[in-house]
Amino acid sequence: MEVLTKTCEECRKNFDVTPDELGMYEQVGVPVSDQCFRCRSKQQLAFWIFGKFRKGKSDLSGQSLITVLPPKVRYPVYTAKEWFSDDWEAVAMDYDPGKPFLTQLKELQEKVPRPHQTGENNVQCDWCDDVWECKNCYLSRSMIHCEDVSYGYRILRVKDSLDITYCYDTERSYDCTYCFNCFNLQYSFNCRNAINGKFLFDCRNVQDCFMCWNLRNKQYCILNQQYSKEEYQKKIAEYRFGSYQAIQSLKDEWQRNIQDEAVHRENFNVKVTASHGNYLTNCNRCVNAFYWEDSENSYNVIRGVKTKNIIDVTGSWEMELSGNTADMVGGYQMKYSVWCQHCRYSEYLDLCVDCEYCFGCVGLKKKRYAILNKQYTKEEYEKLRDQIIESMKKDGSYGKFFPYDMAYSGYNVTQANIFFPETKENIEKLGGSWEDTEDVKAEGQSTSELPDAITEIDDSITTQALVCPETGYRFNIAPRELSFYREHSIPLPRFHPDKRTLNRLEKVSIISLSPYACFFCKKDIQAYYPLEWGYKKIACESCYQQNVA
Ligand SMILES: [Zn+2]
Ligand SMILES: [Zn+2]
Repeated sequence: MEVLTKTCEECRKNFDVTPDELGMYEQVGVPVSDQCFRCRSKQQLAFWIFGKFRKGKSDLSGQSLITVLPPKVRYPVYTAKEWFSDDWEAVAMDYDPGKPFLTQLKELQEKVPRPHQTGENNVQCDWCDDVWECKNCYLSRSMIHCEDVSYGYRILRVKDSLDITYCYDTERSYDCTYCFNCFNLQYSFNCRNAINGKFLFDCRNVQDCFMCWNLRNKQYCILNQQYSKEEYQKKIAEYRFGSYQAIQSLKDEWQRNIQDEAVHRENFNVKVTASHGNYLTNCNRCVNAFYWEDSENSYNVIRGVKTKNIIDVTGSWEMELSGNTADMVGGYQMKYSVWCQHCRYSEYLDLCVDCEYCFGCVGLKKKRYAILNKQYTKEEYEKLRDQIIESMKKDGSYGKFFPYDMAYSGYNVTQANIFFPETKENIEKLGGSWEDTEDVKAEGQSTSELPDAITEIDDSITTQALVCPETGYRFNIAPRELSFYREHSIPLPRFHPDKRTLNRLEKVSIISLSPYACFFCKKDIQAYYPLEWGYKKIACESCYQQNVA
């Protein structure tokens, strides 16, 4: 097979489909995409809400709930507990050959409830979403096995930490991004096995270090200079870490060091073979893959773990031989589906659990041979499914992902807007919608009036509402949070937690390459850093290995 060049039906740019991709499309049994990687990933990620937490009520029982779903939605919302119970049954519809199938599926979508929260088996995690087996967490999203975390995002086994984004196995830490196996780390990025550190970048196996980069196996370093234990402690004691102003200038200094002094690899991949993309760990033959772990033969994918033989997928945890899906947990031979758990041999499923051989269903549990949630015999199912596929082929909708108008919220409150920021106008042209943020000015204290140092803050702060100068959103300081700041000498945050998370995410949302010359050997390389970040020392893999690792 040769490389196939296609024109994206959405942005009209050309894109190449490699022989390996063509092979995978064939193996999975989905057609070659008509959209480029960017346009199809954007559409899939528009089904993954990154909304603001709000209070609401269950449409089943009236019970109060906390959700990231927007206040006005076109489907009922039940509490997750109610949703997983047997207290209701999903409505079924007859197929009408006179109407486009996806129009009917959208009608069904509007009759079937969605759970207020994604996740299961949590204790005291009401103000969280996409949360699994966690305890005492607050205003956090996308997390497994975490405890006592506030303002976390995409975290695994993190404990007793605040403002943590994309970190695993980390404890007692604050304001860290892309850090693994760390303890008592603050204001750091891309570190592994770091203990008692602040303002560290790309450090491995370090302890008691401050304002350092590219360090390996060190202790008592400041600005990459070695000190004795006594000198280090003396120097560190001179800093006013509890002062907001002092932290801002340290952050500026840290950024300058990252730009001018630190050596950067072309990507953040670890333990990969025959793979390319960014933020890959333990991957074999994962191509055009991002935020992907422990997987093989996975093509054109964003954010997933443990997959094999898949193509054109965003959000996946343990899936095999599937294509053009989003946000799936478990799954085998799944196509054009979204938010399903442990489903197999099915197409066009939304929010289904433990189903197989189903087509175009919503919110269905443990069913076989259903279409638009209606039960058929195996023979009836196969006949009707084939008839529907024929009609979809005629209207051009077969083999494509759910259209934008079937998403659960406005585009601006989804993951898509993080990776692919868009204007309201463009999204509406694509059939999507936009959440208009309320113009109501939140009442409360402006954070610019806060005393500079944490030592000047008294307990009454926990009863006050603070207003974020950027979003205008109100936020609070919880008593537990205040003790954390005091204990670790951290000034109070000035911005809303979502804004802080989004700022951290910006540094780990890069999925396109920029051209550079290796700082050392001058060879032409492609690296995942936008040119405007101004990184001066970007190294090819072998020069990085020689000079840093
Ligand atoms: Zn495109
Ligand atoms: Zn080089």
